[in-house]
Amino acid sequence: MNGENKMEIMHGLGNAEKAANQREYKCIFPECNSKSIRSHSQQKKSQLEAIAENSEVFTKNQSIYQAVKTETQELLSRKNIGEASRFKGYCNTHDTNIFSPIENGSLDIDNPEHNFLLLLRSFSYEYSNKREMRDMLSNIRPLLPTERKKHFEDCIDEIDKFLELDSPYYLSKLFEIYESKDWASIKYNSFLIDKNIGISSTTCFSPLGEQYSEWMSENYNELQPFISLSVIPSKQSTAISFVWFSEIDRYCQEFSRISDKQNDFFRLINMYVFGESEDVCVKPSLWERLTKEEKKIIYQYMGERDSLPSSYSMPIVLSV
Ligand SMILES: [Zn+2]
Repeated sequence: MNGENKMEIMHGLGNAEKAANQREYKCIFPECNSKSIRSHSQQKKSQLEAIAENSEVFTKNQSIYQAVKTETQELLSRKNIGEASRFKGYCNTHDTNIFSPIENGSLDIDNPEHNFLLLLRSFSYEYSNKREMRDMLSNIRPLLPTERKKHFEDCIDEIDKFLELDSPYYLSKLFEIYESKDWASIKYNSFLIDKNIGISSTTCFSPLGEQYSEWMSENYNELQPFISLSVIPSKQSTAISFVWFSEIDRYCQEFSRISDKQNDFFRLINMYVFGESEDVCVKPSLWERLTKEEKKIIYQYMGERDSLPSSYSMPIVLSV
């Protein structure tokens, strides 16, 4: 990029991000017409505070503008916990009322309702994040040179499919369960670890793993199965929870078998957190102790899906 060209693109990017940040969205709760506030997908109080140092954590840099401006290759950067892991999902009333049973240290990992709320929060984050991302990508698309547009259009198509096909179905299913309290509609496998592992994360990902591409090519127009993973640290312990709908149980056998007694338990959690999450927060001293080479391997997992080195070469970031 020559200087002038870069200036122009930076200006356009800055404006596109600003417009996206100012955009207002409707609350996700059915038939609520209030505007969504910026909710935390990971609670600031107790959860993020448990891993913060000077009120900061390392988290994914969401701003393309900042990344281009500083020409950084770093996917994770320091952020104040007030700014980390936020999404425009619910209005103030629904955000407060829906999730209060699992906030402020009252999460009970053996309680089905609490596990359901973790699933609901993870999916709400996924949906809201994609809703914002689509608008953001549409805003910056006109700035791109023709040869880059194709890749962008493919990304936008994939997000559209999620927003138009998968999301309406899963959201209505989630709110049906929320109203009926029919906990048999979900399954979970959750753990309470008796130490603070220094990581906090919320994510939804495909349980299909290596079979994903094959499954997609045969079932492109089907709803995609997903599983949620929440990692919730507190001062002295960490709750880890996998939750999925009973109707896709056949795809989730691998996850129902995970045990915190197995030797590679933390290696697995480390892999899912860094390989699958768009929303991970790390205790600064844990991240900074990694070498440049180790960070590079983690970034490979965070950025790519295919042709990854074996998970056994992946450095363990969590404190175990
Ligand atoms: Zn609402």
